[in-house]
Amino acid sequence: MSGASLTELKHFFTQLTYLAAAGLFVFSLRWLNHPKTARRGVLAGVAGMTAAIAGTLLHPEIVNYTWIIVALMLGTLIGVPLSWVPLTAVPQRTALSHAFGGLAAGLVGTAKYVLWHGEGALTHYRAAVIIIEVILGYLTFTGSLMAAGKLQEVIPTRPITYRNQNVINLTLFTLALGIGLYLVACPSQWQLFPPVIALSLIFGVLLILPIGGADMPTVISLLNSYAGLSAVAMGFLLDNKLLVIAGALDGSSGLILSIIMCKAMNRSFRNVLFGAFGQVQTSSAAGPQKTAKSGTAQDAADLLESSSRVVIIPGYGMAVAQAQHRVREIYDQLTKRGIDVRFAIHPVAGRMPGHMNVLLAEAELPYESLLEMDEVNPDLPQADVALVVGANDVVNPAARHDKASPIYGMPIIDADRAKSVIAIKRSMNPGFAGIDNELYCGDNTLMVFGDAKAVLGEIAKALSGQSGIH
Ligand code: NDP
Repeated sequence: MSGASLTELKHFFTQLTYLAAAGLFVFSLRWLNHPKTARRGVLAGVAGMTAAIAGTLLHPEIVNYTWIIVALMLGTLIGVPLSWVPLTAVPQRTALSHAFGGLAAGLVGTAKYVLWHGEGALTHYRAAVIIIEVILGYLTFTGSLMAAGKLQEVIPTRPITYRNQNVINLTLFTLALGIGLYLVACPSQWQLFPPVIALSLIFGVLLILPIGGADMPTVISLLNSYAGLSAVAMGFLLDNKLLVIAGALDGSSGLILSIIMCKAMNRSFRNVLFGAFGQVQTSSAAGPQKTAKSGTAQDAADLLESSSRVVIIPGYGMAVAQAQHRVREIYDQLTKRGIDVRFAIHPVAGRMPGHMNVLLAEAELPYESLLEMDEVNPDLPQADVALVVGANDVVNPAARHDKASPIYGMPIIDADRAKSVIAIKRSMNPGFAGIDNELYCGDNTLMVFGDAKAVLGEIAKALSGQSGIH
């Protein structure tokens, strides 16, 4: 086979694998929509990415594989340990992935600028795409690192604010954009390129600094969307259609998820990005402090056994305690007695979208018993017991009526409207938003203090009649 026809064949295979990969990415997103097909969705995504890498390695312009192999080994060395993180740390891990994606886009843009500048091949179009890619890439890099640091609590999760913060941020961004526009008009002015990089890196840090606590999920999915957009720019730059498609899918899905989460928290984008939400408060509204009524696992078991409708509301504490299998035991015990048991899933319960669904699916609970907040709320006044397992902010009634509360307006699961509430947690400590929860002091609430896994285990034992607890 001649050199020219081999090149054509390689090109054909590359385009074919790109087409297959693009299709697999679209199906992956579709299947990830439902727990029943989610596993297939993950496999389709992995297959798509494998096809994309294989297709890229066949690219006829590659003449030397040494550095590619070094990069693959380095990526594997970093990627494999990242997959070992516990489920509770997945949001941080996701933020780190976005950081790497942003850095890759930024570095490719920088390399192309240097290369084309050296060759005198920097057109206005190329400079424009590079500027978009570099600004989005580098701000995603530092922004995502900050988000990961806040979630891992290596930097304070509370909003860090100072005077004229929004003005300073806006000035920095406008400056980066302004210099970028000048570079598009005069692409050979290379001295101005490093300041664009530096301003983007600083802007990423300052953008996340004032955002705190409960807004991190929205911010992470917004950063996901920025990483996607910088990949789109990279696709145009490298004339790579798959990057454009994958980046557009990433960018739009990140944006849609951010919108869904903003709705779930009754917040606007402007408020999330500039509202300095999530200040830690030690107590809620003024007034006489009520005390909580606490009971034993046996009391909880008695209450559950005498009910006919139970709604289980899981939260972050269930994830920390890894109590999903104990929840399954309780579910089995109750349904065996003919009690109607449903699960109320808040869109931002836990620390990542879908956190509760993943855990409950792991315990093989039937998907049809997992109801979303809007579906289950009308049923709560008819529920005999709302069993709150390590959930706090997502069941805090202050969100409905306390205008001074930082979570005011966030839709919640109406656990307090059930006839009785059993709340399992270790102490009266607040949840992620750092605020007290009046639900725990309600007249119809029984607190059962302890680790969720241990307490649920005791309740399950009591229900199965093997308990020695009295
Ligand atoms: P919260 O963080 O509000 O509350 C969790 C509760 O679990 C705590 O009050 C804690 O109380 C309890 N807990 C912790 N460990 C255990 C344990 N081992 N056993 C029993 N209880 C335990 O969780 P929610 O799910 O109610 O709300 C999620 C919050 O996180 C929201 O504010 C949301 O905005 C935010 N968030 C959500 C993300 C998402 O995408 N889902 C991502 C990032 C943040 P105690 O210490 O007393 O045990």
